[in-house]
Amino acid sequence: MKEINAVDFEKEVLNGGKVVVDFYSTECPPCEALAPKFDAMAELYGQKIKFLKIYRQGNRELATELSVSSSPTLLFFENGKQVIDSISGGIKKSEIIERLDTMLTTEEVTAIKANQKPIVSEYDVAILGGGPAGLTAGIYLGQAKIKTVLIDPALPGGYMGITHQVSNYPGFEQPQPGYMLAHYMSEQAKHTGIDFKVAVDITSVDLLKKEIVIDQLETIKAKKIIIATGTTPNTMNAPGEKEYKGKGISYCATCDAKYFVDKEVTVIGGGNSAVEEALFITKFASKVTMIHQFDKLTANQTAIEQLQANDKITVMYEHEPRGFEKRGNTMITTLEDLKTKEVKELESDGVFVFIGFKSNVSVLGKTLPDMNIWGYILTDEDMKTSIPDVYAIGDIISKKYRQITTAVADGTIAAITISKEL
Ligand SMILES: Cc1cc2nc3c(=O)[nH]c(=O)nc-3n(C[C@H](O)[C@H](O)[C@H](O)COP(=O)(O)OP(=O)(O)OC[C@H]3O[C@@H](n4cnc5c(N)ncnc54)[C@H](O)[C@@H]3O)c2cc1C
Repeated sequence: MKEINAVDFEKEVLNGGKVVVDFYSTECPPCEALAPKFDAMAELYGQKIKFLKIYRQGNRELATELSVSSSPTLLFFENGKQVIDSISGGIKKSEIIERLDTMLTTEEVTAIKANQKPIVSEYDVAILGGGPAGLTAGIYLGQAKIKTVLIDPALPGGYMGITHQVSNYPGFEQPQPGYMLAHYMSEQAKHTGIDFKVAVDITSVDLLKKEIVIDQLETIKAKKIIIATGTTPNTMNAPGEKEYKGKGISYCATCDAKYFVDKEVTVIGGGNSAVEEALFITKFASKVTMIHQFDKLTANQTAIEQLQANDKITVMYEHEPRGFEKRGNTMITTLEDLKTKEVKELESDGVFVFIGFKSNVSVLGKTLPDMNIWGYILTDEDMKTSIPDVYAIGDIISKKYRQITTAVADGTIAAITISKEL
């Protein structure tokens, strides 16, 4: 994979031909998740399209010129002009393929697809999800010499990997960067010999047949499946939110806060995540305005006290966002004062959204296990679901406390149960 910088940009990108450019950053889990997919695409499409990488932090001026404000961002060029909308954030392989195919003729696409061959692999256990729950199950199953594969559309680590500091995971005297915990856990799991299929597209899941298809071509058959797919941040569905996602609106402070040095930031939310992430953002930003729908924050007392002691943060209580737009480089958040019904505008350089989560069950196929009314999977004390040989662990299950320690505990229980059964 060729890496270029701003000086080479004209020669390599603007001087004609078909080119796709990946603007990436360091310490950016979505960038790491994209890298293997980008490499695979380069191998497949490399005869027809040039694949290049540019380090965003080292080429900030060029990135700003091209309106790249989130990492990673893929830009598509033909004869020096951008031909397709850029994509950024947690980019799926299918989204890249869809765009690359439009840059080629039907004959060229058919020839490329003909080079891909279907694959079938068989395992005792397939773990869907490589957060702390899935990784722990992997460690126990690997150590029990059970043939296991761990599948994740992103890199292993789950939320742990994007939490800037974890201070409550036992065994560490000092708070640990979440990505280090994710690194330790995934390396430990890899050392047990289990297979990792990460940064893949999950094409389909059939929990009854125990078959998972990834990247459209590879079928994984297993005797047992463990669901550890966690949760996804809620979106507000406010006008402009989708449009400016990755272009002024972010859901990951670890990934994007560093681009707001001495800038003003709006944070939507008032729970633990919102308060913790707002505190983290103040390491970079000059001012953080939090928008919260209730008249008091719902975070834990320690986090609230830290927030109150931080003079960079102000909270607008009983306000809700009604829409987002961009004027020049300024993000405009339209707010409603829930008490007075007054509508006002708040200007900032960027918006971060932390307003809770929903369970990732929609990706699990047509037949789902029994769930509670909020869509969290019901399990027994061995982590078994209502579908035979299907287990669920971590944040996706119906439970009171969602933490790394509780996810790790669930993974342990499912794996030990399975080890005794196989
Ligand atoms: C901002 C923030 C800060 C936090 N801070 C702390 C803290 O300090 N201490 C603490 O103990 N807890 C903290 N938590 C909670 C903790 O991170 C979670 O409880 C824990 O990560 C849950 O682990 P999990 O493995 O169940 O799910 P996740 O960590 O959510 O991992 C789920 C994995 O499944 C993958 N996945 C999604 N869909 C699919 C699919 N279809 N197929 C396969 N894989 C899929 C995802 O890519 C992800 O890797 C924090 C959470 C957040 C959001």
